[in-house]
Amino acid sequence: MIATASDQQITERIRDLQASLPPTVTLVAVTKLLPVEVIRIAYNAGVRHFGESRVQEAIAKQADLQDYPDITWHLIGHLQTNKARKAVEHFQWIHSIDSLKLAERLNQVAAELGKCPHGCLQVKMVPDPPKTGFDLAELDTALPALNQLTHLNICGLMAIPPQASSPDDIQRIFEGAKQLADRINQSNFAHLKIHQLSLGMSGDYPLAIAAGSTMIRLGTTLFGPRPSLAP
Ligand SMILES: *Cc1c(COP(=O)(O)O)cnc(C)c1O
Repeated sequence: MIATASDQQITERIRDLQASLPPTVTLVAVTKLLPVEVIRIAYNAGVRHFGESRVQEAIAKQADLQDYPDITWHLIGHLQTNKARKAVEHFQWIHSIDSLKLAERLNQVAAELGKCPHGCLQVKMVPDPPKTGFDLAELDTALPALNQLTHLNICGLMAIPPQASSPDDIQRIFEGAKQLADRINQSNFAHLKIHQLSLGMSGDYPLAIAAGSTMIRLGTTLFGPRPSLAP
C-alpha cells in the first residue's frame, strides 16, 4: 500500500477522468507527500504533468525518476525567494507567483540560467488572510512591472477559493478569475498574455472546468487522502 488508493484504483480513476476532460484541460496530478511509486503509476496511466508543493521534495523525486524524462513539473506551493533558483532549475511551471518581489527574483535567476519558465500569478479573488497571493488592487499596480519580466513567461492565473466557500462563492471566484484574465489581456501588455487558468482541486474541479479552467490540480480525487505532514 503506497497511497490510500490501490494501484488499480489510481489507474482507473486517471483513465476515467482523462476520458471525461475537455481537450482544453490539462490534468496536473498533485503528488506532494506521496512516494515516487505513485508518480510511476500515474505516469503509466498516461499522466505527464505533476504538481509538487515543496522544492526539496520534488528534487528528491526527480532524482529517482530520471527514466521518465518527459514529465513536466509544476510547482504549486508557496515559494520563498531564497529557493527561487532551485525552483527554476527543477520546474517548468510555477503556479504560485504570489508577489512582485518573487516574480522579480524568478526573472533574475531565469536570466542567469538561460531559462524562461511558465508562470501563473496567484491571485486572491476575495480576501483570504491565511493565503499568500496578489489581492486585486495589488495586482493592478504590479502589472506594468510584471510586464517587464521577459525571462518569465507569465501566461496564467491561479486562484484558490478560501476554505469553507460555498459552491456559489466558488463559482463566482472562478468566473471572476476568468474575467480578470480577459481584462488583463484587453490591456494589451506586450509580455502578459493570460491564456491559462490554473483553477480547480479535488473538491471543486467541475466548477472550475465550467468556468474555463485549463489546468486542474488534483491529488485526493486520484490518490485518496494524503499522509498528513509531520508537525
Ligand atoms: C494540495 C494542493 C492541491 C491538490 O489538492 P487536492 O484537494 O488533494 O486535490 C492543489 N493545489 C494546491 C495549490 C495544493 O496545495
